[in-house]
Parts: sequence; C-alpha cells; structure tokens
Amino acid sequence: LELNDLSKLTSVSNAITKILSDFKSVGTEIISVRQSNGRVLAKDFYAWIESPIFDNSAMDGFAIQAEDTLNASEAEPICLRVIADIPTGINPSANIRSGEAARVVTGAVIPTGADAVVPVEDTNIRQWKPGSKPTTKIFISKKLVKGQHIRPKGQYIKKAEKLIQVGKRLRPQHVGLLASQGVREIEVFRKPRIALFSTGDELLSAGEPLEPGKIYDTNSYTLETLIHENHCEAHRFKTSADTEEDVRSVLKEVINEGTDLIITSGGVSMGAFDFIRSVIEKDGEVKLWRVNMRPGKPLLFGTYKEVPIVGLPGNPVSAFIGFEVFIKPALNKLSGNRPSRRLAVKVRMIEDVKSDGRESYLRAHVFYKDGEWKGSLKGHQGSGNIFSLVQANALVIIPTGIKRLPANSFVDAWMLDRQL
Ligand code: AMP
Ligand code: MG
Repeated sequence: LELNDLSKLTSVSNAITKILSDFKSVGTEIISVRQSNGRVLAKDFYAWIESPIFDNSAMDGFAIQAEDTLNASEAEPICLRVIADIPTGINPSANIRSGEAARVVTGAVIPTGADAVVPVEDTNIRQWKPGSKPTTKIFISKKLVKGQHIRPKGQYIKKAEKLIQVGKRLRPQHVGLLASQGVREIEVFRKPRIALFSTGDELLSAGEPLEPGKIYDTNSYTLETLIHENHCEAHRFKTSADTEEDVRSVLKEVINEGTDLIITSGGVSMGAFDFIRSVIEKDGEVKLWRVNMRPGKPLLFGTYKEVPIVGLPGNPVSAFIGFEVFIKPALNKLSGNRPSRRLAVKVRMIEDVKSDGRESYLRAHVFYKDGEWKGSLKGHQGSGNIFSLVQANALVIIPTGIKRLPANSFVDAWMLDRQL
C-alpha cells in the first residue's frame, strides 16, 4: 500500500517541469560591466570592433620584409638596416622597404611595407636593455615566411560578430571580453527579488537564549545564503508562528513589498499545525503538493496573490535539497538564464546503498581514486541533520524505484563543494 501511495506522488522531473512552466524572466537594467559578473546578459552582444584592431607584432623583434630572408642561413646571415623604432601605442609613419627593418615590441603596430617580424632572439642582438636605442644594423640567420609573428587585424574577432548570447550568465572572462571591446555598461536581467520566511512556534533566531522545547532557526539562514549564491536578492521576513493569522500577516507584508517568488520553510506536512498549505489552499492556489523524493516529500508549489510560492518542508536537509532541486532552476529561469544542465559527476558507489523507492538525495563523500570518482555515504541521513551536509561533499542521487543498489553501481553526484 505504501509503495502504491508513493507511486501516485508527482515525480521529481514532472514537478520541476510543472514549477518551471510558471516562471518567466524578470525585466532588465543597465549596469556597469565591472559589476556584471554572475549577471545574465539580456541581449545578444555583437562585436563593436574587430580584434586585433590592427596588425601587430606578436614578439619583441624587428619588422621586415620576409622576402629579404629568403637566402638567410647560419653560414650567411643577411644584414638589414634599422630605420625606425616602434613602441606600443603609436601609429608609426615608417615605411619598410627591402633591406630595411624597424625595431618593434610586442603589440606594436606593424609599419607599412613590413610583412613579418623576426624575433630578437633570431638576430645577432643578444640583449636589450630597457630604454636602449636599437642598433643600426641587424643580422638574421633564419628564413621567415610572410605573416610570421604578426597578429593580423580581425584574426580573432570580426566586427559585428556575435560574441555573447542572450541568457548567458557572465563570468570574469566575459567582463574582460566586454572591456576589450570598449564597453562600459551592459544590459542584464535585474536580480530577481526573493522573499523568504520560516514557520514554526519552536524557532528562535541565532543569538537568542535557548529555551526548553525551542530550537534555532536554520532554514532562513541556509535559504538566504543559497538565494545570494544564485545571484538573486533575498528579503528575509520574520518567522511566522504556527497559526493561520500569523502566516497570513507575514504573507501580507511580503506581498506589500513586492517579490518575484516566495519561499517558506515548514508547515507543509500533515501536522495539525501545518498552516502554509491551508492558507495557500484558501487564499491562493496549490498547484503541486508532495513529490516522490527523499528527503523533501511534502514540498508545495502554488501561487499566492498571483505570486509563485514554494513551501519547503521544515527539516533542514529537506529544505536545502528542495532548494537545489526545484528552486535553483526556477531562479535560473527568473534570472533570464538559458536552461542548463547541472554539472553532475558519475560516481561508483563503493558500498551497498538502501533506498525506499523514492528518488533519493543522499549525503556522500566523493573522492578520486584509481582513475575514477568513487563515493560512499557520509553522515547520519536523517532529514533533520544539517551536519550531514557539512560532513558530505556531494549529494548522490538514487533513482526512483530502487530499493537496494549493490556496491560498484554508478550514480549521479551533485558536488556540494566547488573543489575537492
Ligand atoms: P515542519 O515541516 O514544520 O513540520 O517541520 C519539520 C521539522 O523541521 C520539525 O522537526 C521542525 O522543528 C523542523 N524545522 C522546521 N523549520 C525549521 C527551521 N527553520 N530550522 C530548523 N528546523 C526547522
Ligand atoms: Mg512546523
């Protein structure tokens, strides 16, 4: 009967699809490129300028005509006359003819007439002191081909070429690319505003003295941080007591402030004091309740005054995993980010794993050994045990329908740490 019950619950993937279909991207704003790391580009970016902007030297050396070196050899080096000295940052007036050379540094504009650069180390010049004048003659003992050691104009980037696609989450390299194009400001999606609050008569905030029967609120802290880590604004509201009136009054404050998504924790199970669900049922719309997963089954999704709301279960591990599985992709979509696949590692479990047939997100230690990633469970797997998320470095996912997974089976792992 229990298994039958479970199989009637919405699957994780159906729940994700259902939740995502209720979100679209927020509006846009123009910000400084310097502040754009982690933000999502709102329009395709096309090159303002080509790159390189002009033919320039890839080496410290001499700009010459390649043809002059046709017969150059160790035994019979050819001699060229140095007629100009070209640093970076100037537009040289020199015109190189056969028999002539101009000293150039890396990045200097190639003077007209020249079609190759001979690196200083391939000449008779042994060292260059900073500030020293070029010699009047150089000897070259190697043959050069046309274009050698020249970075030609437009080789990397053509003008008007698409460089970054709309929906791309920008990273430091994008900031550098935009700066290299001379771009100071850029249009990105604004940061989604996410409201959150915990529910529970038992909850105290960190810093308050413990009292009998009370525990410290964990979830609003974890969730606030997860929201920030996902490049959204978190607006944390006061903990709601386990009464319909208090749930309503906190929700009213949330709605007054304006928000793109409401996240609550606790109060969505079958308990006699689980008022999130009853309030949403009465004043909003419950679109989904209970998912075939472990931990985190009692998850709720719906709308309240037209605002999407995710009611996460109160157990701290359930709340964390509920965020990772459902809210993270929703925030991605709100942020204007293109749908993306989460980076998962296939790991070989080195021990038997028992499950209950629900899609299970178990805390594990993943390590690299003998040329592959291996994993074993880590920490007490109770959904109330936030410590297990700290002891573990990964969540391993046991697919639905599996009650026992023999050692050496491969499973997907989501890394909790960025580095191992
Ligand atoms: P609930 O989902 O409200 O039925 O709560 C399930 C379990 O999680 C109970 O043991 C609660 O005391 C606990 N819990 C609920 N909310 C929090 C919270 N914000 N921080 C830590 N534990 C919580
Ligand atoms: Mg509760």
